[in-house]
Amino acid sequence: MDIKTQSVHVGVSKDSAYHSVITPIYPTSTFSFERLGKHKGYDYTRSGNPTRSALEENIAALEGGVGASATATGMAAETVVMFLLKPGDHVVTGNDIYGGSYRLFAKVFAHRGISFSFVNMMDLDAIKKAIRATTKMIWIETPSNPLLHIVDLKAVIALAKKRKILTVVDNTFMSPYFQRPFDFGADLIVHSTTKYLNGHSDVVGGAVVWRDKKLGKEIRFLVNALGVSEAPFDAWLVLRGIKTLSYRMEAHQANALKIATFLESHPRVKKVYYPGLPSHPQQTLIRRQMKGYGGMLAFELDTRKVPLDAFFKKIRIFHLAESLGGVESLIEHPCTMSHASMGEDGLKASGITLETIRISAGIEDARDLVEDLKRALEYQGS
Ligand SMILES: *Cc1c(COP(=O)(O)O)cnc(C)c1O
Repeated sequence: MDIKTQSVHVGVSKDSAYHSVITPIYPTSTFSFERLGKHKGYDYTRSGNPTRSALEENIAALEGGVGASATATGMAAETVVMFLLKPGDHVVTGNDIYGGSYRLFAKVFAHRGISFSFVNMMDLDAIKKAIRATTKMIWIETPSNPLLHIVDLKAVIALAKKRKILTVVDNTFMSPYFQRPFDFGADLIVHSTTKYLNGHSDVVGGAVVWRDKKLGKEIRFLVNALGVSEAPFDAWLVLRGIKTLSYRMEAHQANALKIATFLESHPRVKKVYYPGLPSHPQQTLIRRQMKGYGGMLAFELDTRKVPLDAFFKKIRIFHLAESLGGVESLIEHPCTMSHASMGEDGLKASGITLETIRISAGIEDARDLVEDLKRALEYQGS
């Protein structure tokens, strides 16, 4: 089945009583046993719930995995994956990963005996050099946030496989519609379903997807033991959002491309980062591993010509807000917002500057969005 069909149907039919077309929400904490030792597949909602199962089956299918756990947030999904490790283990990851991932690694797990190397993941030699005897995981995020650097999934995963290192891919930015990390051999995929999968900015959620049953069993154990599973109502909202994923991704991408093209031509913009622009330096890799370019872009504003606060004050349609992947366009300042938790050194290493601005292109009319940016860029003082 094509992803457009899968997203609408897989896992959805859960009502054997009345055959409702839409998955029912089961707002129950507990399920009664038929008799001692026998229940209908669910006993307690932290461990399992039919509404959540519907979402998990759906996401697993979209990614080409065999199973998934839906979690309360994207960070909950990441926490679960990190609990696969033990004190003494080492992780190699990017120096420009999502700010919250960086914080979880550097400020939480690094204090619990797990060590991290944050490297330039576009440089295979840098990854090889960072690998130690104790390296147990390579954590990949591609495209990176917010500068849209592309990590070579095939090459990095091959390098890890040779050394029996687990590979995890954060596929939040592309969604399975544009990128399928399992096709390149990844062991686990994590999502913040808060973003494109749900797509309507009205829920937070996450997912861990696997292709190996044994690893899946460990993930399921951890989700239940840590108590980080997604609430039934939230799972229902995400499943509802996913049904339009393909069409939203096409719309996000079309708008992002128009915005990026406009920004690149503007004299008050120093640089634009978008995989869909011919100026992105990794065209060959992009075509090899992605089916599209996504809806995220970033640019460097010439702040000698337009002060930052003046620029943001003039924006009307875009919300000045963190997060991404919703139908409404968002604009933000990574340095003081989404990536502030990286600290000065982290920001410097990742290439984010005071002038970097990130956009999540929504599905509004592109002309309105471009007009909004144009007005802000053409600020004439005071
Ligand atoms: C938002 C995000 C996360 C964290 O997800 P939450 O749902 O906010 O907890 C992780 N990775 C990426 C790439 C994200 O954009």
